[in-house]
Amino acid sequence: MNGTGNNDVLTSTQIVIEDALRKLGYGDDMIELLKEPMRVLTVRFPVRMDDGKTRIFVGYRAQHNDAVGPTKGGVRFHPDVNENEVKALSIWMSLKCGIADLPYGGGKGGIICDPRKMSFRELERLSRGYVRAISQIVGPTKDIPAPDVMTNAQIMAWMMDEYSRIREFDSPAFITGKPLVLGGSLGRESATARGVAIMVDEALNRKNIPIQNARVVIQGFGNAGSYLAHFMHQAGAKVIGISDVNGALYNEDGLDVEYLMERRDSFGTVTNLFRDTITNDELLKLDCDILVPAAIENQITSENAADIKAKIIVEAANGPTTLEATKIVTDRGILLVPDVLASGGGVIVSYFEWVQNNQGYYWSEQEVDTKLREMMVRGFNQVYELHRRRNVDMRLAAYMVGVRKMAEAARLRGWI
Ligand code: GLU
Repeated sequence: MNGTGNNDVLTSTQIVIEDALRKLGYGDDMIELLKEPMRVLTVRFPVRMDDGKTRIFVGYRAQHNDAVGPTKGGVRFHPDVNENEVKALSIWMSLKCGIADLPYGGGKGGIICDPRKMSFRELERLSRGYVRAISQIVGPTKDIPAPDVMTNAQIMAWMMDEYSRIREFDSPAFITGKPLVLGGSLGRESATARGVAIMVDEALNRKNIPIQNARVVIQGFGNAGSYLAHFMHQAGAKVIGISDVNGALYNEDGLDVEYLMERRDSFGTVTNLFRDTITNDELLKLDCDILVPAAIENQITSENAADIKAKIIVEAANGPTTLEATKIVTDRGILLVPDVLASGGGVIVSYFEWVQNNQGYYWSEQEVDTKLREMMVRGFNQVYELHRRRNVDMRLAAYMVGVRKMAEAARLRGWI
């Protein structure tokens, strides 16, 4: 998480990007181009706090590569945000967009802050201050932000409003994940989870496990984790474990998912309401069919990978499994559906939202869901097929599928 040591997410992403490009036949120049973002902006900006004092916040916006089109990706509010993490996240966004065949490159932003300790008005001033600080390098045809860890539709609304004021015209296509009345798309809020649920279906099919009563464990109960628990429950699976930052809940007969959905706070905290909890580490090692890490980076590591009992791991979070752990679980025959494939639902429906904003014509939820399913299944089939045909693990296969359009676009533009 801190950008150093073995679990440095940027270094491990670069290792796989290099591997993927070599397997696709590209040389050092292409690797040099794509292993780092083309642009990273660091901003320091003042925010007036409720006590009247001014605090200076540090934020970032990284744009990986725009050979395919404008860059796209969320903005996270988290105390551990750092430059290397944002860079890695922007590369992962490129891969997600590549796998889904969206006309975007990857981008990502973040602010070092703890939104759980800030008031509503402080969050508004923080969001607006960030947009003013990055406004020169973003825009509907340049770089389009969206929600990520601890940001939501309200924050997107403030950011869109601030951007529209700066540009002096209404610019809904500047940002996605907006509230419906401000040009948001039906199905966007639950899109990441919807996409993960589709990947769970595909993975279960490959392993010949029926969804009915399949035992699911979900780490994290934020936007992705909570909606996923709901979809899994609806589909007839048994959600036997969930967790938040404080701890985890376990019931071998299945948890009351709808009750937990109702009681969670806006940051996905719910376990504090219960006395009988287990640790996050115990949760990861539970006997189950499907394990879905839906929290943050570096959760499945060389320390615990040998003890994981799931048959399938579907990564709803970005970067939850280290490279060492990827090898351990793959060698043990666990089917791993990697983050850049599994969590693509969010950016896919963000793309639909942007298309709708540009057209000024809005789709039904049915249309959003059908198109989302088509794109996710196509992505899964391509990655799975390449993994089998080239005898590479699912993560490397996903990187190969994800990076090839960008590399081809850069070559055709004459950059390499
Ligand atoms: N933050 C989400 C992700 O990591 C969504 C990004 C977007 O919608 O642009 O995929």
